Amino acid sequence: MNELIVAGQYNIGHICTTHQCKSGLKDKTAMRWVSAHHERTDYTFGDLDAASNRFANLLDTLGVLPGDIFFTFLPKMPEQFFAFLGTLKHRTICGTLFSNFGEDALLDRLSDSKATGIITKKSFLRKIKRIWPQLPELRFVILVDIDEHSEENVYSYKQLMDAASAEWTTALTPPETPSVLHYTSGSTGKPKGALHAHRSVLLQNSTTRDVLAVNSNDIYWCTADQGWVTGTSYGIIGPWSLGVTQVHFGGVYDASVWMDLIQTERITVWYTAPTALRMLMRESPELYAPFDLSSLRHISSVGEPLNPEVMVWGEKILGKKIYDTWFQTETGGILIPNRPGTPIRHGSMGKPIDEIEAAILSDDGSQVGVNTHGNLCIKSGWSSMFITYINNQEKYDSRFRDGYYYTGDTAYRDDDGYFWFVGRSDDVINTSGHLVSPFEVESALLELDEIVESGVVGVPDDLLFEKVITYVALRDGITIAPELDLKIKLHISNRLSSIAAPHEVIAIEKIPKNKSGKIMRRVLKAWYLGLDAGDISTMED
Ligand code: AMP
Repeated sequence: MNELIVAGQYNIGHICTTHQCKSGLKDKTAMRWVSAHHERTDYTFGDLDAASNRFANLLDTLGVLPGDIFFTFLPKMPEQFFAFLGTLKHRTICGTLFSNFGEDALLDRLSDSKATGIITKKSFLRKIKRIWPQLPELRFVILVDIDEHSEENVYSYKQLMDAASAEWTTALTPPETPSVLHYTSGSTGKPKGALHAHRSVLLQNSTTRDVLAVNSNDIYWCTADQGWVTGTSYGIIGPWSLGVTQVHFGGVYDASVWMDLIQTERITVWYTAPTALRMLMRESPELYAPFDLSSLRHISSVGEPLNPEVMVWGEKILGKKIYDTWFQTETGGILIPNRPGTPIRHGSMGKPIDEIEAAILSDDGSQVGVNTHGNLCIKSGWSSMFITYINNQEKYDSRFRDGYYYTGDTAYRDDDGYFWFVGRSDDVINTSGHLVSPFEVESALLELDEIVESGVVGVPDDLLFEKVITYVALRDGITIAPELDLKIKLHISNRLSSIAAPHEVIAIEKIPKNKSGKIMRRVLKAWYLGLDAGDISTMED
């Protein structure tokens, strides 16, 4: 087996491309790109290396410096992978933005990070232009779908790439060098930029091999979007650092198309999410009968709790085991998984990987006993641990106590060491595996004249795990007509993203708050679910 780190070189871009070529994989297919229209294009590791080299040179030409922050804002497409790897080779920090983000979501992230540049497509330029005056550090935008530079500071990817050399030597990159930036939502305040270091490749590599059980002959498919941590850690870094062939598909959810993809491409390992699996489970079992899924060894899943029914369905209808894995943006890689070869307890996240120590701690930091709920914590120092929340070291420090990182999840451990997810210890909503901040939605709602105040909560949902519910107090004389309901939903979709758009908007006279003015979301949740709201003695009169 090839050594991952040679002569102290931790650079992720280098390891995923140049290092693979040097190890004899230059002509091996790294990526089979299947477009939404089912056109197939193969890229070898040699192609990935050359394209990412060009991209690194291109950043140099534009005067970008190592340590600057550059973003991709693209749907899944080959250029996104080249840009990501090239940016890392250049030792510039690469942030990835979900392609569905609206202006508010973009502005928060681009301004907080003081981003220097961004690669996107023509149809998204309008959004960026509207916020650009508020982004003094944003120097340029690269568009993947124009042939020539169009206006000042708006460049053609093609023109820049054509002019850039395919030769590049990646400077020695020590393990602590900042690498990837992902914004994540909290229950208070703006999104936080979790910054990772190049050393994360160690854990992403070992867990792809040992947890997802991917080997060098596999054809691997990760459905996650590159805007989120799973898409970068396990849709780019883990598999390519192992020299594995990945299929990337540019289309949206369609059960038959997905099954056809597994059959045609002979996919052997598939990493996906519970919401997608629950959608597949809702299809008629007959849909699956014509497909030959014999190439597929197993499925792994991440992002939300995996219901035992889904696991049973997987075995019965697809004939495949589904392995739940747990991690989060801040952990950079899988820490608590189920995996092939170890017994599964249906509904459990599994057992911690060898490299880490996971603990269930009470709020005062003491260990709680088995089968008792507490904070899920990880002993500080695992190799893919984030290095800070940029511009918010205080928040970062607040997540650590006595050498443990507090994940924000509550869980318990059973007698045999299996970990079971209980919920979040904050108000963050997990809808279809994506975290939504109630605070962000509430802030965006206040942009509408009709709304005086609002409270946003997540409530259980059979398909999405949780759905977003919005309570609003309206200005005098305004009622919640269908037009206003639609306006509110569209507003959130446009300003933040469709993921954050409320499923229901409920008008009430006054949003319950405690005496210090904090929205009592637990009361709203109880009202919605028809439950007793518990102690409301702290509620404002
Ligand atoms: P993110 O940082 O957006 O990737 O979201 C991470 C959060 O998603 C975790 O802190 C959990 O709350 C949730 N999550 C991820 N994987 C699982 C899982 N296997 N089971 C339950 N919750 C999960």
